[in-house]
Amino acid sequence: MNLITIDGPSASGKGTVSNLVAKALGWDVLDSGALYRISAYAVQTKDINPEDAQTIAEVVGKLDIKFQEGEVWVDGVEVSDILRQESTGKMASKIAAYPELRAALLDRQRNFIHGVPGLVGDGRDMGTVIFPNAPLKIFLVADVNERANRRYKQLVDKGVVANYDEILADLQRRDDQDMNRAVAPLKPADDAVVIDSSHMGIQDVVDSILKEWAK
Ligand code: C5P
Repeated sequence: MNLITIDGPSASGKGTVSNLVAKALGWDVLDSGALYRISAYAVQTKDINPEDAQTIAEVVGKLDIKFQEGEVWVDGVEVSDILRQESTGKMASKIAAYPELRAALLDRQRNFIHGVPGLVGDGRDMGTVIFPNAPLKIFLVADVNERANRRYKQLVDKGVVANYDEILADLQRRDDQDMNRAVAPLKPADDAVVIDSSHMGIQDVVDSILKEWAK
């Protein structure tokens, strides 16, 4: 089975690494975080009570979601920019704790493996819940100060006014929420290879994953 799962906390570089690994192998990527962000977008635009897990799961189950050429389409609307917004990420992290929503997204995520040459699954529970039989599972970590630093630099490079302390506090809150929720908490699968990228460049991380895959 051509499948690599890459899990880890926010701003660990998972997204970039997943895309580069997939590109090197000629495979597809499942950006599972986008599915939780899409769910958050649905809550925010369809006037759904963010506490109502059952309704959120029902509505998300019916959404027409398409990933194509780097764009994300939901019910015929291009939503890529909205999904990246901070408020969407915050709502995603909150509702990702609902077992009803996670169950509603389960098959949708597993279906990504069908009809593709191979798949890199990028998320928090790819190796533990969605693809427990994946032949290679990576858990990508980096020191939280280093992650805050990277995110700060990214924003400054884009010309956005950023506050390092706020970014750090937000990442710590996000880590806490993701690691301590009752369902699918963020943790490495028992058979995951843990890579600490605190002092590694992106390409070094990609190369070490490709080396693991070639073993
Ligand atoms: O990775 P990204 O920041 O886009 O994910 C948004 C939120 O969705 C995360 O903060 C996390 O709480 C949640 N998530 C999740 N399980 C996944 C992917 C993302 O709970 N597999």
